[in-house]
Amino acid sequence: MPKAFRNLIGGQEKDAVSGRTFENRNPADWNEIVGIFPKSEKRDVDAAVDAAKQAYKEWHLFPAPKRGDIVKKAGDILVARKGELAKQMTREMGKVLLETRGDVQEGIDTAYYSASEGRRMFGVTAPSELPDKFTMSMRVPVGVAGVISPWNFPMAIPTWKIFPALVSGDTIVFKPASDTPATAATLVEILVEAGVPAGVVNIVHGTGSEVGMAIVQNDDIELVSFTGSTAVGKKISEIAAGTLKRVSLELGGKNAEIVMDDANLELALDGVLWGAFGTTGQRCTATSRLIVHEKVYDKFLDMLAERTSRLKLGNGLDESIEVGPLVNEAQREKVHSYTEIGKREGARLVLGGESARGGNLDGGWFYKPTIFADVAPEMTIAREEIFGPVLSVMKAKSIDHAIELLNGTIYGLSSAVYTKNLNHAFKAMRDIKAGITYINAPTIGAETHMPFGGVKQTGNGHREGGASAFEFFTEIKTVYVDYSDRLQRAQIDTYKN
Ligand code: NAP
Ligand code: MG
Repeated sequence: MPKAFRNLIGGQEKDAVSGRTFENRNPADWNEIVGIFPKSEKRDVDAAVDAAKQAYKEWHLFPAPKRGDIVKKAGDILVARKGELAKQMTREMGKVLLETRGDVQEGIDTAYYSASEGRRMFGVTAPSELPDKFTMSMRVPVGVAGVISPWNFPMAIPTWKIFPALVSGDTIVFKPASDTPATAATLVEILVEAGVPAGVVNIVHGTGSEVGMAIVQNDDIELVSFTGSTAVGKKISEIAAGTLKRVSLELGGKNAEIVMDDANLELALDGVLWGAFGTTGQRCTATSRLIVHEKVYDKFLDMLAERTSRLKLGNGLDESIEVGPLVNEAQREKVHSYTEIGKREGARLVLGGESARGGNLDGGWFYKPTIFADVAPEMTIAREEIFGPVLSVMKAKSIDHAIELLNGTIYGLSSAVYTKNLNHAFKAMRDIKAGITYINAPTIGAETHMPFGGVKQTGNGHREGGASAFEFFTEIKTVYVDYSDRLQRAQIDTYKN
């Protein structure tokens, strides 16, 4: 019998009010059920929001360094359970063990960083323009936070949001992706074990349209932290405008790696293989486009096709596997539809372009690593996020042309440039329109203490990671203390004429 999971609301395990459930399956072996989860709705969300509101009354008064201690403890438990959690995540969403271990490590790093921020969260003190008056600003919690996460980083992304929110003093209603509810449930279990009081973190499982929407629509939710597709992000933004709730959106990407003719080509090749086919291309920072200088274009394409054709596909629980399955059937159909569009629009299919079948692969949603060459900037596969192992290769005449091609999408998350020319590197750092630029490293590889997020339609200006996350999960309160015992008027008393 697969394990039955429940919501956690106000410290109580609860089924969905309606009694409905849904299954979560292993994408590498679709017959295997990972767990059964409550299919919740607005009534469940409302109960969770009430619990979070109640819990906020005490939690926001609990000292921030103490809140940090609890988050640190959660980090310690993640360390102890890292191997077991990585296996659960690979079973749940398919990426290989090497990567799910990295995903847990991101959670650990975020726990330790966030815990330490509990002893900083610095405000500012400044001199007043008036005598016997003191001014300062400080960070205060916001209230109840709604957290909505995607499935591709089932541990890291929820921790990026939940750990800083907790240390900030907010309480939480968490709706994880329907494809990775088991990892999310385990994270919440770990937080409870670490000492998070009842009602401070609540988890409500269910679909985006029912549970996600109910979170966004709830007036008592003061802020929503969302990571997912641009289409859903826009919808959330529109609804949130009704109550002016604060919304952080981390959305899609169409990231590119530039390879200049002066680059170390072997290094650039390792970078694009990892960037394009790691996590089976299902990363917001995946390398989806490769822009190669015309002088090395043919040579680099040959090198790339040769190495890509040798990538080993299979169940990520086997340590020798390099590329796991796509997360579900719909995702595989979507990826394949882009292959069809690419062919129809005249791109040259170099490798892949079909489902991978045979032997153990038949039970899962495997897709061959796919390379399209001679892709023109106006083609659909050069513009739209595919979220699969499909790489579109384009040719550039110069660094300026390469940057122009790189900037030619509605997204702006990550970018990479391989060059040994200092002038090219600095031009790229300045002119690329993206939240993240790597020089001589792939588009993936964010470190948790650095700001993470994108420009243009990748987001709405907020950043996760490190101290930046605390800017979202806290408000700034400005305080003036006048100890002069008389009415003092700023701007007026000091400058009389
Ligand atoms: P998604 O379909 O937008 O789903 C993300 C989350 O939103 C899931 O929990 C989903 O629930 C929920 N959701 C769906 N519809 C909703 C609605 N109408 N209202 C409220 N919530 C709703 O995205 P995904 O397919 O899971 O993830 C892939 C996307 O995420 C890609 O576009 C990728 O680039 C982006 N991403 C961005 C970042 C970043 O930091 N910029 C990081 C990772 C992923 P269900 O699971 O129940 O549908
Ligand atoms: Mg699954």
